[in-house]
Amino acid sequence: MVKAIKVMLLPNNVQKTKMFQYAGASRFAYNWALAREKENYEKGGRFISDSELRKEFTKLRHSDEYAWLLNISNNVTKQAIKDACTAYKNFFKGLQKFPRFKSKKRSMPKFYQDNVKIRFSSTHIKFEGFSSSRKANKQKINWVRLAEHGRIPTDAKYMNPRISFDGLNWWISVCVEFPDCRETLHDDGVGIDLGIKDFAVCSDGVKYKNINKSQKVRKLEKQKRRLQRSISRSYEKNKKGESYCKTNNVIKKERLLLKLNHRLTNIRKNYLNQTISEIVNRKPRFICIEDLNVSGMMKNRHLSKAVQEQKFFRFRKQLEYKCSDKGIQLIVADWFYPSSKLCSCCGNIKRNLKLSDRIYRCECGNIMDRDFQAAINLKAYGERFAG
Ligand SMILES: [Zn+2]
Repeated sequence: MVKAIKVMLLPNNVQKTKMFQYAGASRFAYNWALAREKENYEKGGRFISDSELRKEFTKLRHSDEYAWLLNISNNVTKQAIKDACTAYKNFFKGLQKFPRFKSKKRSMPKFYQDNVKIRFSSTHIKFEGFSSSRKANKQKINWVRLAEHGRIPTDAKYMNPRISFDGLNWWISVCVEFPDCRETLHDDGVGIDLGIKDFAVCSDGVKYKNINKSQKVRKLEKQKRRLQRSISRSYEKNKKGESYCKTNNVIKKERLLLKLNHRLTNIRKNYLNQTISEIVNRKPRFICIEDLNVSGMMKNRHLSKAVQEQKFFRFRKQLEYKCSDKGIQLIVADWFYPSSKLCSCCGNIKRNLKLSDRIYRCECGNIMDRDFQAAINLKAYGERFAG
């Protein structure tokens, strides 16, 4: 199975400068290729293949005006041109909107490295062409330290290595092929009810609480709101006529806000991944979840924020991926299946169940926690369809 690995980089200042240069060249080549295609199309010409464009670009590299491009490894710009062509083709196939030019302000700095030439040691990653000198001490510049040691295998076939900057740190993401490891699964399956009060309730009785209600996250959210208000006040204060002015103080605060946002995302992501791997590592035969109508829930203005923070969509994607890795069957219950309205004892359906009814009381004498009952019902649903 192919797995994507993303690891933070710890470049020194020389390397950081080089990385921004590479990202800039990549952006330049992308925009150049897109502009060429567009111009050609408006003249009534047909699609220019990326090999033709690359030949043209090589000539450009050797002209005096664009001499700075010669300092950048060829593979960076080559891939950027390929990407532009793919995006352009996808537009004509109707797969995406017309590709936008990458602006310096808006786009994320990123670039590609050749998947054959890239090297990894357990602690470092080797880039191409940071230093052209053959001296050993100069060659060191090519090796950038990794924040996590031994995470990326050193002797593997690498696919699509990309380096990107998220506003604070540089990251490498690369795909690596891993051998399949099929484990023996238990006979029992599990049903999972997702919700806002508790994040997930499993039919085996395990509950995962809502991380957004924890003290830590609430404190961070409060800090975030304060900082946002303070930034907008600073903007108002330094307003010159109609235009806003970015003072050093604002830059400092915006950086803090970015850090805070990253921290919150990391906490949520981490919690999600831990929950999923805990469920999957219990090796159930199947997992049954309900088909959540996320876009419908987002329309409810009382729920939208809570739903957004829970990242249900991400949960499902990640669960699909983990299940296929372990060979667990994932069953998504039909949208009309009344998982929380159904009584698990007598099969009665309670139509008038409100969202505020946390305890399910049935005429047959069954009294149960609403979410737990839903999880049990989902398990029963899964049993019917599991192979
Ligand atoms: Zn009942």
